[in-house]
Amino acid sequence: MIPQNRLQVYNQDASPGECVVYWMISARRSTWSHGLQHAIELAQERNLPLVVVEALAIAHQWANDRSHTFVIQGMMDNKKAFEETPITYIPYVETKPYEAKGLLEKWLEHADVMVIDEFPVYMPRRILEIAVSLNKAEIHSVDSNGFISLRQDKAFTTAYSLRRHLHKTIIQHMSEFPLPNPLELAAGLPVFDYSKIEDIFEESNTPMTPYEFIWRICEADDIGLQALSVLEIDHSVAPVQQTKGGSIAGNSTWSEFFKERLMDYSENRNQPELNGSSGLSPYLHFGHISPHQILAEIFKAHNWNLSQIIPPDNGRRSGWWGLPEYVEAFLDQIIVWRDLGFIHCSKVQNHHEFASIPEWAQKTLKEHENDPRPYIYSFEEFENAETHDELWNAAQRQLRSDGMIHNYLRMLWGKKILEWTPSPEVAMKYMVALNDKWALDGRDPNTYTGIGWVLGKFDRGWTERPVYGKIRCMTSDSTKRKYRTKKYIETYSRSNIQRTTFKM
Ligand SMILES: Cc1cc2nc3c(=O)[nH]c(=O)nc-3n(C[C@H](O)[C@H](O)[C@H](O)COP(=O)(O)OP(=O)(O)OC[C@H]3O[C@@H](n4cnc5c(N)ncnc54)[C@H](O)[C@@H]3O)c2cc1C
Repeated sequence: MIPQNRLQVYNQDASPGECVVYWMISARRSTWSHGLQHAIELAQERNLPLVVVEALAIAHQWANDRSHTFVIQGMMDNKKAFEETPITYIPYVETKPYEAKGLLEKWLEHADVMVIDEFPVYMPRRILEIAVSLNKAEIHSVDSNGFISLRQDKAFTTAYSLRRHLHKTIIQHMSEFPLPNPLELAAGLPVFDYSKIEDIFEESNTPMTPYEFIWRICEADDIGLQALSVLEIDHSVAPVQQTKGGSIAGNSTWSEFFKERLMDYSENRNQPELNGSSGLSPYLHFGHISPHQILAEIFKAHNWNLSQIIPPDNGRRSGWWGLPEYVEAFLDQIIVWRDLGFIHCSKVQNHHEFASIPEWAQKTLKEHENDPRPYIYSFEEFENAETHDELWNAAQRQLRSDGMIHNYLRMLWGKKILEWTPSPEVAMKYMVALNDKWALDGRDPNTYTGIGWVLGKFDRGWTERPVYGKIRCMTSDSTKRKYRTKKYIETYSRSNIQRTTFKM
């Protein structure tokens, strides 16, 4: 059974149905998933078939070739994973906006209960709200997101306050791991009649997605691009050929980092010219890999258990877990900073807006709103990496070509947008749009809290300066002094990137 604090039940008095449906919209995987585990347990308990629908809608602002390819590559892995089980797995890709308008409702009419991933931002949040408001079936929303569940009494205002909470409640979180392989529980489940699935799609006027389409997208270069061209999405944001989506790629990214690079994480993470961080954020964002899997493997490899914790439980960042420094540094990111963002966004509805920034930060930024800016750039100039600053331009080109920005430079990237726009509200809008459009890990809770951090969220006041007020300031010159950036700038120079971009 999954922990009760990961589950929220709605519409309990809805009429009974003929199957359990798992609407997979954020934990897009077949392992280490509270959502999938709960759906299988429910199907066993009610002796009903289980249908997993992994849907990809396009009626949202940032549907593009890049994110679609990544998700569809994951569908291929999921298809294989469910093949030998009694569970029916249906990948569905919408081809034009609102084509699948009635699909969710039809499945709700047939479902005895629908399990839906709980995800605190963007489309997945909206889908859960819609499903609940239709009131056609019992709904179980399940939180498979982080080590610390979303169900907390309050949103934490600093990483330190979440660390303190974590130190005092660690026993509870350690008891909340999902099963590594929930598919083992599926043995003996009745199988859903395939002709009924076809009927449900037909009743809702939605064409089923042919397997061949998914297969084509997973083929690199021209075959994939040709297949994508039939979708009414933004084709100007190209797939990132070197970063394949899906659980298989997510797992190999994780194992490579775990075996080869975790031990250098503390030293290399901030070095733009070294591949020092894990590169896991797109896989974590789309749920192709679970943070619980990553943590379980770290704990196992280090023979770690609760007895190794070094008191006092006072919220300090290092020296508490009783693990090597590089492991503790990584845990602080994947647990504390990641969950801080998820919990914040689940509690604060307007998490993507300037109004969600703490009052002191809004006040100081407003006081400096009329300060002369050294430069002002338009959205297009930012998007096309046309500023005077070669390091900033390189970071923006990395975002456009690779779908990510180096860890440390992402902070600098944001700070300079704050400095070079007419107001902090405009800066926030530009950052959200650039990140949501181009980043593989965009549209995530950590998108909005990362950008919020640039404007003072979760931070403290610093020495007052023009434009920034008391918000922490960063400069390209000091970054260049602290870290090696020459090769990075060369790699992401205009001529090099044009070659990469036009190849795709
Ligand atoms: C302006 C700005 C925008 C950002 N936008 C996003 C975004 O769209 N999506 C996103 O996932 N993260 C975002 N971040 C947070 C952070 O930059 C990325 O999570 C990190 O760079 C991802 O690289 P990695 O997987 O190699 O990280 P690693 O250093 O290997 O860390 C492992 C995991 O820990 C989590 N993590 C690491 N750093 C942070 C952080 N500062 N805040 C929250 N979680 C963290 C991520 O899930 C990451 O995958 C943003 C930060 C800033 C300053």
